[in-house]
This record gives sequence, C-alpha cells and structure tokens, in this order.
Amino acid sequence: MMPGPTLIKKCSKCQKLIEEETWMSGNSCGAVSWTDGAYDAPMMPDQPELVKCPFCKALMWLEELEEIGDKGMNRPSDFVPIANPDADLSIARPYKMPTAKDYFGLLKTRVDSDEKEAYLRLRAWRAGNDRRRRSEHGPRKFKGKNGKPLEPFSYAEIKNMKELICILDEQDDENRLLKAELFRELGFFNQCLSYLAKPIDDEYKICAAFIRELALRKDPWVREIIPAGAREGEERSA
Ligand SMILES: [Zn+2]
Repeated sequence: MMPGPTLIKKCSKCQKLIEEETWMSGNSCGAVSWTDGAYDAPMMPDQPELVKCPFCKALMWLEELEEIGDKGMNRPSDFVPIANPDADLSIARPYKMPTAKDYFGLLKTRVDSDEKEAYLRLRAWRAGNDRRRRSEHGPRKFKGKNGKPLEPFSYAEIKNMKELICILDEQDDENRLLKAELFRELGFFNQCLSYLAKPIDDEYKICAAFIRELALRKDPWVREIIPAGAREGEERSA
C-alpha cells in the first residue's frame, strides 16, 4: 500500500483544519467483503465522500472543502501542492466517519443532487448493516459477533432500501447486483433472482453467484462473501 499526500482542508463551518489521507495504490490483501458491497481491507482504506468534522462534528462533502495545503509525501508527478505559508498544518486532525444516524439525518434535509442521494442511501444501508455484519475471517470486531442474534431492519432502514432500489440504474452491472441484494435482504427472493438471471460482468460473478445461492436458501441477511472454492477447501482441511 502506497500512501499519497495528506491533504489539508478547511472545515466550511468552524474553519478548523481537517486531514484527508490519500492513497496512490492499494491491494486486497487480508480483505473481507460482504454481500451489500461493504468491505474491510487493511491495505485499501475506505475513501469516503462525506465526512464529519473532528472539531465541530458538522457533516461535509470532502470535494467541496477548500484545500489549503498538504503534508506532501509520495506526490504523483502531476500533483500540484497548494502553498499556504500562513497555515499551521500541525493542528489539522483526521476526519471522522459519519454514523448511520448521520446519514439518515441528512436524508431528511434537501440533498442537492441525485448522486449525493444515492451515495447517502447506500452508506446509510451499509452503516445500518454494520450491526449485522459477521465474519469468519475478518477483523475481531466482526468475528466477536458471530453467533449473536441478527437484528431485523427498522422502518427507516426498509424505507431507505426501497428508495435505493428505485434510484439505482440497473443498466450498470454493479447497480443491478446491489438491487438484487437489496431485494434479497428485504425478503423478495424471486425479484432478487430475476435481477441475477442475465449474465453479469466478470468482476461481479463470484458475488452474484453467492447472493443467488443465499436467495435460493431464502436467507435474507447480509453475509460475508466466501467463494465456493474457498468453502470446499475449508471443508477438506477441517
Ligand atoms: Zn468543523
């Protein structure tokens, strides 16, 4: 994993300085992923678009913040640093990640683009699912919950998932897979299977096959994706 420069941006509300780490490259070593598209990859950190100011806790879109400098490391050749000799970059702090409650709160206000709405709904769904995320292989925080009861969706989560189904354009294979998964988690297994009936891009084949198998078993829960080959291997070694 190769870190890029740490960008320093100014909070649009309290004007304090926020750090945004960037990555020039990453890989999927040690990664675990789930059927809702969420993943946990130590060598490929999440790159969120919406973050929370570590000082005033306001929610803000990273790309809309004024960039005032960088702690330049591994700058790519086309990187143009923004010089600001007056800024004390040492007082900057890394942003915080919004919670499910933050996403749902923002969705109650006017969101100024369809892309932002889709992003918020997707993140709200996944953040809510974090309570139900289990992993055989992943980090301890997920392993620790193995075997604990899974919590049903709240009314707000169901409403959000249905809205997300309406706004995702299924002409795109990734969105089609997400729609299939949303239907499965809502318990509409036939709709899920109908979205997976057409051939899908190679990139999504393993995930699509896994979701299909869960739908056939009428399993509605978010699950860690364990490809069929890996499971057979485990059974042999067990
Ligand atoms: Zn702030």
